[in-house]
Amino acid sequence: MVKKVDLQFDFDIPCQKCGKKFKVSTGNVGKSVKCPHCRTTTQLKDNGFTKGLQKANNALNKLFKI
Ligand SMILES: [Zn+2]
Repeated sequence: MVKKVDLQFDFDIPCQKCGKKFKVSTGNVGKSVKCPHCRTTTQLKDNGFTKGLQKANNALNKLFKI
């Protein structure tokens, strides 16, 4: 069985309160995340990000004919 391509990655975002960067992953988009430095909860707004990611996934899967 061929495993489908599932694009996932981590990225750094700056905290809205303390300005320090912390790591979140693509799976966190659309959810709230907590800054590990000041414990402030930030809502990661999904401005079409997940849709775009899904498109990229589909394109990759097509590319590799999975
Ligand atoms: Zn913070």
